[in-house]
Amino acid sequence: MSNARPRHAPVTQFPVRADCLQIGGMPLTRLAQRVGRTPFYAYDRQRITNRVAVLRQHLPEEIHLHYAMKANPMPAVVQHLASLVDGLDVASAGEMKIALDTPTPPHQISFAGPGKADGELSCAIAAGITLNMESGQEMERIAKLGDQLGIRPKVAVRVNPDFELKSSSMKMGGGPKQFGVDAERVPAMLARLGELGLDFEGFHIFSGSQNLKVAALQESHEKTLQLAIALARHAPDTVRLLNIGGGFGVPYFPGDEALDVAAVGENLRRLMPEAKRQLPDARLVIELGRYLVAEAGVYVCRVLERKESRGQIFLVTDGGLHHHLAASGNFGQVIRKNYPVVVGNQVQGAEREIVSVVGPLCTPLDLLADRMEMSKAEVGDLIVVFQSGAYGLTASPTAFLSHPAPAEVLV
Ligand SMILES: *Cc1c(COP(=O)(O)O)cnc(C)c1O
Repeated sequence: MSNARPRHAPVTQFPVRADCLQIGGMPLTRLAQRVGRTPFYAYDRQRITNRVAVLRQHLPEEIHLHYAMKANPMPAVVQHLASLVDGLDVASAGEMKIALDTPTPPHQISFAGPGKADGELSCAIAAGITLNMESGQEMERIAKLGDQLGIRPKVAVRVNPDFELKSSSMKMGGGPKQFGVDAERVPAMLARLGELGLDFEGFHIFSGSQNLKVAALQESHEKTLQLAIALARHAPDTVRLLNIGGGFGVPYFPGDEALDVAAVGENLRRLMPEAKRQLPDARLVIELGRYLVAEAGVYVCRVLERKESRGQIFLVTDGGLHHHLAASGNFGQVIRKNYPVVVGNQVQGAEREIVSVVGPLCTPLDLLADRMEMSKAEVGDLIVVFQSGAYGLTASPTAFLSHPAPAEVLV
C-alpha cells in the first residue's frame, strides 16, 4: 500500500515472552482475565518506580521532584507516586482531595490553574497547601477568604514569563496567556502581596508541555532562573520556593526520540551554584506529569470484528476515542499520527498486515491506529495502545455515546 503509515515510535519498556506482552510482571492475556473485562487501562508500578529512580540519578540532588497529578489522577497511582516523589501539584479541588489522602505533607502540595473557585480556594487555604496565584484578582480573593477563615494563606506567584519554551507542543507561557501573571506586572503584584500580609513562598514558572529537545529545556531553565532572580528583588519576603516547571516529553510518534535527561540534569547542575548564591533559601522544584507516568501505561481493548472495506482491513474493537482521545489524534495534535499500537497477545505474530484499528463510536474520528503494520489479529485478540499512562482516561470524553467507562488497574 503506497499510503501505508506502518511505523511508530519504538517501545521497549515492556518485556515480551512467548510473543505476549508482559505488563506488571504478568502476561497480558492473564492480566485481561484478572481485570475481567475490556477495555481497560493498566499502569505498571515498577515502570513508574524505575522512572523516578532514573530522574533522581540524573537531576541534582537539591531538586525536589513533584508529580503534576492531572496527567493521571488515579488514586492508586497518586498514592504510589506520593511515596516516591517530594510533593504533588494539583489543579482542582478533586485532585486536592486525592493528594490530601496521601501521606504528602500539605506544605509539599501546590494548587495551580486559572479560574479557581472561592470554594476550592477556601479548602486549599484551610488545608495549608500553597496556592499558585494566576492573577491579581485571585490574590485579592485569597486574601479576603483568608481573613474570613482566620488563616494566613500560603501563596506563590505563577509567572507568565517574557520568553517561550521553544519546541514545546503545548506552550503555556510567553506571549499573552490565561496562565500566570505577566512577568512585567509581577513587581506591582508583589508590593500588593506585602500589603495584604499573605504568606509568600515564591515563584512558579511553567512554560510548556511535551518537550523532547534538550537545548530548549536547558535554555528555559536558564531563563527561568534569571527571571526568578530578577523578580526576587521585588519580593516582600525571602524566596523559599522556586518551581521551574517541567515539560519533559516522551516519544509518541515516528521520529520522536527519548529525552536525554542526563543532559538536562547536567545543565541544571551547572546552574545550581548561581541558584544557591542568589536564592539561598529557595527549594527548587521540578513538576512533572507526563514524564513520570505516560510510558508506564497501556490501554487495552478487544477485537470484536475484522472488517474489510474496499481492500482496507478494519479491526473493530470495544475501545476507542471515548476512552482515549489522545490516541485518536484529537487531543492537541495538528496532524494525526499513530500512537504505538500492537496486538498484545501476539506481538510479532506469524503473519503481518496493514490494518486500521477503530472503535464503536459513530464518527470517523474514532480511530486508534490508521493503516499500521501489525501482526494479523482475529476476533478476541487484545489490542494494546502504548504511551497511555498520561492524559488518557481523564482527558477523554467518556460520556460520548454512553458506553461504559473502562476499568483501570495499577499492577
Ligand atoms: C499540566 C501541568 C503540568 C504537567 O505537565 P506535563 O507535560 O504532564 O509534565 C505541570 N505543571 C502545570 C502547572 C501544569 O498545568
